[in-house]
Amino acid sequence: MIIHLKPEVATEKAEQLGVELESVVLKRDGFYALITSSKMKPIDEKYNQFIAERFPFDDDIQLASKKYMAGVREIKITDSVSIGGKHNNTVMITGPCSVESEEQIEQCSELCVELGVKVLRAGAYKPRTTPYAFQGMGLAGLKLLDKMRTKHGLKIITEIRDSTHASEVIEYSDILQIGAKAMYDHGILKACGKSGKPVLLKRGFGATLQEFVQAAEFILSGGNDQVILCERGIRTFETKTRFTLDLCGVAYLKQYTNLPIILDPSHAIGFAYGVADLSKACVAMGVDGLLIETHPNPSVAKSDAAQQLNFNQFRELHAQLNGVAKAVGRTMI
Ligand code: PEP
Ligand code: MN
Repeated sequence: MIIHLKPEVATEKAEQLGVELESVVLKRDGFYALITSSKMKPIDEKYNQFIAERFPFDDDIQLASKKYMAGVREIKITDSVSIGGKHNNTVMITGPCSVESEEQIEQCSELCVELGVKVLRAGAYKPRTTPYAFQGMGLAGLKLLDKMRTKHGLKIITEIRDSTHASEVIEYSDILQIGAKAMYDHGILKACGKSGKPVLLKRGFGATLQEFVQAAEFILSGGNDQVILCERGIRTFETKTRFTLDLCGVAYLKQYTNLPIILDPSHAIGFAYGVADLSKACVAMGVDGLLIETHPNPSVAKSDAAQQLNFNQFRELHAQLNGVAKAVGRTMI
């Protein structure tokens, strides 16, 4: 249950009530909120004097629920770019899987500028499935992204692989990415909750929708209102494609949560050949953004080589997606 305390309930009292009601205490605009487990039994009448409003829930999708906040949260990236809200934007996010060199990330940045893409995405700390593959450039990669931000006026999204470098990534990026394999990492979720920066939370490929949104609840209840969900494919019995893009899950998230949703067809299929068709399906569904991996020469990419689009493939797709977005009443930005 989410309980809005009366505005006159001061910090110390709110904290005391938080302990007594075994709840998370969250500072809102001008009042405190307590969030209890949805399993909490009825609250003793003696607390009524402190309570302004209550929102009961059947499960622990609470702050993220449309029953608490109707519509879709607006995450402001720049004065003119918002993800979610009432703008009906489909925000394009692109870039290589990994920052590999200054030359490579410069070329990717120039592609963004050419097409009017505002958000550049690349990993500096890469969560790989083998210790023997490229693990990312680390801090040097973050500094290159920072250089691109200043030089080209782009916003940067990059991943926190583990909490040991969370503060570095928070310093150098505009949107923090939590990867599929890190979705359950409470050190990262908590650091993102305190960061004050927008967070793109990817769904773990073995996570149910309930677990996915509960991971978002860790960030929201940690004091960060700016969470974006990202569906990037789940593991099924199918092996011909790398993962299975769960569009049914996306329909559920759109219906029941107030969080903007970005789709990542690149990681879902794992092969460049399907990215264009999937992207069109995603945009046609009316989602808040797309994340597509691009590389100046995918065949030599140090990670996710099979799925990245080359620049001409991306240019062609980008032009087609503008039309699809328009057809469903959205604007591609
Ligand atoms: C990535 O975005 O490059 C990545 C590693 O994705 P995921 O966490 O979805 O596997
Ligand atoms: Mn990748």
